[in-house]
Amino acid sequence: MYYKLYFSYISAKMPPKKKGEEEEKVVLIGRMGTNLKCGIVGLPNVGKSTFFNVITKTSIAAAENFPFCTIDPNESRVPVPDERFDFLCEHHKPASKVPAFLNITDIAGLVKGASEGQGLGNAFLSHIKACDAMFHLCRTFEDPDITHVEGEVDPVRDLDIINEELRLKDQEGFDKVFEEVERKYVRGGEKKLKNDYDILCKIKKVLVDEKRHIRFGDWNAADIEVLNKHLFITAKPMIYLVNLSEKDYIRKKNKWLPKIKEYVDKNDPGAMIIPFSGAFEQKLAEMASDEERKAYQEEQKCNSNLDKIIVQGYKALGLQYFFTAGADEVKAWTIQKGTKAPQAAGRIHTDFEKGFIMAETMKFADFKEAGSESACKANGKYRQQGKNYTVEDGDIIFFKFNAGAGLTAKKKM
Ligand code: GDP
Repeated sequence: MYYKLYFSYISAKMPPKKKGEEEEKVVLIGRMGTNLKCGIVGLPNVGKSTFFNVITKTSIAAAENFPFCTIDPNESRVPVPDERFDFLCEHHKPASKVPAFLNITDIAGLVKGASEGQGLGNAFLSHIKACDAMFHLCRTFEDPDITHVEGEVDPVRDLDIINEELRLKDQEGFDKVFEEVERKYVRGGEKKLKNDYDILCKIKKVLVDEKRHIRFGDWNAADIEVLNKHLFITAKPMIYLVNLSEKDYIRKKNKWLPKIKEYVDKNDPGAMIIPFSGAFEQKLAEMASDEERKAYQEEQKCNSNLDKIIVQGYKALGLQYFFTAGADEVKAWTIQKGTKAPQAAGRIHTDFEKGFIMAETMKFADFKEAGSESACKANGKYRQQGKNYTVEDGDIIFFKFNAGAGLTAKKKM
């Protein structure tokens, strides 16, 4: 029932440097820090708070061993589940364990007309702007006790309402920027604004004339520089979460699923659709023990989908991680795909990047197979990589760097 999904990033496909060179450089819109945020958007009463609460509750249970915090009632920090991380912790039994995190924010207040001040008006805007990606949640479950703001249950209409509100909001912000640049460049003759003006015209074509979300434009690196100045909402990647009744989730069937797939394929090609059930997840979250949860999932032949949602939220951002692992600490470090070794070292400390000498790396699978660092070395699977090495997801790295004043230091974190 899961639709095959891989995420479409806003990417700039650079022309190959040399003839015959196949490599594509992917440039993401937005400046990704380590503090990643996914906002939950959707109409009222579709199950956003329920989803937020179960994901927070489940993560607290999973996060007993490492620092966890609920940032505020609507924002929660959840560890990204990863078997490799668990294995490394089990192996090293470190004093400190730091997994990768995803921050999840419940964004209330989006209704039809929100862009014109309906519902909570613009309150949602600053929250969405602070996010790197969105979970777009829609409702397929019928329940006469839970009213639907638009009357009948119709997730395709709902998705369209929210997507259009987000686009209108972007258009409103865009119009202000465009008017100002147009005034200065076209009427004021400020020639230096030519580049900005041309790029804004390109954005206008997608966002205003074609009424499409910004992430579907074909942007090059210069366009992205301009886009990054404005933090448009519709530039952010979106993952569609379909809230099913427990019954439908267990039987893996609902009449809306094919229609939602059709809508997403047409309007957000390549985006991921993940079905889940607020009711099912809530039932699990309220159970007293892991044994009880396990037994119920086995009995129903159906598993929770929360881990998958968190992992995909993380991947939707084009992110991956490498590990530093030892007796002191096992830690997952977030990097964008394609990051070179010195920049990956810079995640740990800027001195590591400045004084980078080499990265000693092991692939997680090699480490697991060998069972120890020394066995990995003996197998020839412990490699010294230079500054051109592109870090791969799951690499276990030990950086060597020059700690200023000609002193060579090793840092194992
Ligand atoms: P929000 O306004 O989008 O945050 O929606 P809520 O999470 O507050 O959910 C609205 C109501 O729908 C609550 O009473 C939930 O208990 C209920 N609800 C959420 N998910 C499900 C579901 O999968 N099935 C059913 N029957 N009710 C649900």
